[in-house]
Amino acid sequence: MVCPDCERPYPSTTCVGKRYQIDGATYDPIPWGEEARFRTYEQQVTSLETEVHSGGRGRLSKADVRQELERFVATTDPEAWNNRSCPACGVEQGEYHHHLCDYEECPACGGQPLICPCEIDIEVTDHEQVQADASSQGRLARLLGQLG
Ligand SMILES: [Zn+2]
Ligand SMILES: [Zn+2]
Ligand SMILES: [Zn+2]
Repeated sequence: MVCPDCERPYPSTTCVGKRYQIDGATYDPIPWGEEARFRTYEQQVTSLETEVHSGGRGRLSKADVRQELERFVATTDPEAWNNRSCPACGVEQGEYHHHLCDYEECPACGGQPLICPCEIDIEVTDHEQVQADASSQGRLARLLGQLG
């Protein structure tokens, strides 16, 4: 997949600097790891424990959630979890998500950008970065063309 904001393939690469215009106001996107919904390892464990104590979650029974908790604790390295890159678009913590990522948080309403009620206009602020990438890709294509 190529991000329409930075024109780079992802997951795993970082996105460009950008700003959002939402309902006439300007916002900086919220970088991965700084969302209110972002859970540290400790918060994730506490949340699952709370669900076990309250008897389950939705259609999941208490035993189901307890199993989920045990599996999470057994298979998750706390440090790796707290430093993990975005599960959807692959950027590292502190970096902007790629174009309206599932894990991104809308800076205006705190919802998820694709399904929240806000109209988000994206303004890329780091054009030089995009052009530098595009011209290096162009050079690579010419080189490959000469080889072929
Ligand atoms: Zn993301
Ligand atoms: Zn991007
Ligand atoms: Zn919103």
